[in-house]
Amino acid sequence: MTIHRPTSDRLYQEALQHIVGGVNSPSRSYKAVGGGAPVFMKRAEGAYFWDVDDNRYIDYLAAYGPIITGHAHPHITEAIIESVRNGTLYGTPTELEIKLARMLKEAIPSMDKVRFVNSGTESVMTTIRVARAYTKRNKIIKFAGCYHGHSDLVLVAAGSGPSTLGIPDSAGIPTSIAHEVITVPFNDLDALKEALERWGDDTAAVMVEPIVGNFGMVMPHEGYLEGLCKLTRDAGALVIYDEVISAFRFHYGSSQTYHAFPDHKEIEPDLTALGKIIGGGLPIGAYGGRREIMEQVAPLGPAYQAGTMAGNPASISAGIACLEVLQEPGIYDRMDRLAAKLADGMREAAAANGIPLTVNQIRGSFSAHFCDHPVTNYDEAQDTDGERFGAFFRAMLDQGINLAPSKYEAWFLTTAHTDADIDATIEAAKKAMAKL
Ligand code: PMP
Repeated sequence: MTIHRPTSDRLYQEALQHIVGGVNSPSRSYKAVGGGAPVFMKRAEGAYFWDVDDNRYIDYLAAYGPIITGHAHPHITEAIIESVRNGTLYGTPTELEIKLARMLKEAIPSMDKVRFVNSGTESVMTTIRVARAYTKRNKIIKFAGCYHGHSDLVLVAAGSGPSTLGIPDSAGIPTSIAHEVITVPFNDLDALKEALERWGDDTAAVMVEPIVGNFGMVMPHEGYLEGLCKLTRDAGALVIYDEVISAFRFHYGSSQTYHAFPDHKEIEPDLTALGKIIGGGLPIGAYGGRREIMEQVAPLGPAYQAGTMAGNPASISAGIACLEVLQEPGIYDRMDRLAAKLADGMREAAAANGIPLTVNQIRGSFSAHFCDHPVTNYDEAQDTDGERFGAFFRAMLDQGINLAPSKYEAWFLTTAHTDADIDATIEAAKKAMAKL
């Protein structure tokens, strides 16, 4: 079976005339997988997409993470419809916001206070401002390959989309701003120590994805987060966790309370940035942290942050409904089981064809790198076969399997995927690998 997509091809040509690059986010382009028209989807339900030519795809993109309950989950859809019937945007406080804030705080105890924004980019950007206000310092230390959205400071040597496109620094960011950011390798405490020895007195915060989702799925080495928190605090800087992908991805909670880490208190951050899953598929971001730090934020404190759309009832209602679905017992174990089955199937398909493949699976998510070494940091993720990934991506797409068009992006399972979907995906992977 080979899928034909004449309508996507036509729409892409049309889109190119009106929308820059034909896409509204560069990661949606197929530039990193050999170019050409991306698939234009028209409908999504559960684990499936249908494109404009009525081809069906099993989806592992999950919209880059938020769609953990599958597309158009009835409970979330109902919540959104019910909400918009009562108006779309108030510009006043609502009771709903308190409910979602409570749910987040209960799940992520390091957050005494929360503020809702509209995207992961905004939430990360604001945690940096708040950390700077609190510490009265300017520099930020971040990690190579961790993507934190597209605000100026964190787009310095960033990963994910920017690295895929081979743009380590974006144009339009003044070098004076880039000079405020120090980038060190992930999973290397000595490198962080060195950076803090040199710049610690000027460092407001160390920003990290505690479990990385942007150069594949990568766990921190044992003791790494404990060491990172201690070194950072000893330097008088704040720890910021970017949990835009990781919160509610692996269990009902964040990385901070994930069972792989023995002492949750030792790895608690000062501030946390959230997004994606907590909006149930509608635009959202949130940040939170220790009371005295969060009290820097207006109207209580001198750090300004605002938003016309922030806390809009539709996003908040979708977020509450999504978290309610995720509280159902057994949900995460089921995604874990299916992801493990798929990861094993991928490894076997690769081995049968003599193709080196490193699969990092963390619960219902994983990454598949074409290489014969482990992937524990960005250098190792870069040192993988992108051309082979591109060929694999296309061979999967042509069999109705939708992956993210980048070797750096994760595969996400949802609560809607079934054993039959996984079996079909493994069969497709076998055929794809045989062709590489
Ligand atoms: N932080 C992380 C870890 C992300 O993966 C992303 C987006 N992929 C962001 C921040 C930015 O979020 P948004 O695209 O909602 O602005």
